[in-house]
Amino acid sequence: MSYGFTSKCLYGDDTDDEGGCDCSGAVVFPVYQSATFTHPELGRSTGYDYSRAQNPTRDHLEKIVSTLEDGAGAIAMASGMAAISAVMELFHAGDHIITDIDLYGGSIRLFDEIGVKNGLTFSHIDCSQDDAEAYMTEQTKAVYIESPTNPMMHIVDIRKMAEIAHRHNLLLIVDNTFLSPYFQKPLLLGADLVIHSATKYLAGHNDTLAGIVVASTKELNDKLHMIAMTTGGILSPFDSFLVTRGIQTLPIRMEKAQENARALVKWLENCKSVTRVFYPGRKESKGYEITVRQTSGFGAMISFEVDRKERVSEILNKVRLIHFAESLGGVETLITYPIRQTHASVPQEILDRTGLTDRILRLSVGIEDIQDLLNEFERIFA
Ligand SMILES: *Cc1c(COP(=O)(O)O)cnc(C)c1O
Repeated sequence: MSYGFTSKCLYGDDTDDEGGCDCSGAVVFPVYQSATFTHPELGRSTGYDYSRAQNPTRDHLEKIVSTLEDGAGAIAMASGMAAISAVMELFHAGDHIITDIDLYGGSIRLFDEIGVKNGLTFSHIDCSQDDAEAYMTEQTKAVYIESPTNPMMHIVDIRKMAEIAHRHNLLLIVDNTFLSPYFQKPLLLGADLVIHSATKYLAGHNDTLAGIVVASTKELNDKLHMIAMTTGGILSPFDSFLVTRGIQTLPIRMEKAQENARALVKWLENCKSVTRVFYPGRKESKGYEITVRQTSGFGAMISFEVDRKERVSEILNKVRLIHFAESLGGVETLITYPIRQTHASVPQEILDRTGLTDRILRLSVGIEDIQDLLNEFERIFA
């Protein structure tokens, strides 16, 4: 019998054969800080040859995340961008990929600067409302989305997009960083690949960079392992250990952060200087019904628009408890100015279409005492 989600965060799937060679009884899976592994004799391997190819600590993490996403296997890479780059290696010059317009800025940069250089072509569309089928050609090989999107919180109907993609033999790739498998499991909705910047909720403590790709089939997983081993951007043993440790508290961190986020959304909705609040859990928000159908929670990412541009610098200069910093998904509450930070490299034409303006700020809500966060809000908006 399979474990529940929270137990899986601690132990992986109970049907997993740990395969470790530790006989000390250590409760914590060891950090195998070894570049290479001894062969018992010619023609025999322990399963581990060289740490770029396989490492027990990284394997352990890959198994856990694959289990949490209900996948067939995973690769753990040195960052989210290394994970997305590995996925791009599945494609060939001439291939066409449809992507959402509202994505992590670094992903758009990877597609438009590196992907295009390598002969790929892209159509950036609003997957929450545009007809993706109208953009598909003979060369189209994949659809790449996030939901909720970053930072505008558009919701893409993942199940519907998977149906459309599969009708045309395309892969559906979902960056699931914002909700984590605790709130959303894209593979169960029909996606073929799930990507994580594990730097964010999976690691959860703003202390590690990591990326994960979970595959729905063994075939895709084998290809990705070949790519990871060959291109070499794999996650180190120690960082694998840190992500594994972070995942142990994923459910309780997600719950607490979401609880705080709901309270802050309510506060922002009543704040006179705030003109719009973007949060998937607002009943008024577009895509609310889809969110409720495809997720088990709304997460802890909030974007909001202030009444005038000068207020942005006022807020950012006043924060004390909240950190003015890029990134998200950690225990600390961070505030980001997307247009100058995460989305600084996104072309103006795309910003015009997503609606990201210089009055929009993004919050990654942490697990502080809610009263301290509310006090901070009272002070920075005063
Ligand atoms: C941060 C982020 C990435 C990139 O991950 P890194 O670990 O910083 O390389 C990709 N997608 C999303 C949604 C992110 O938030």
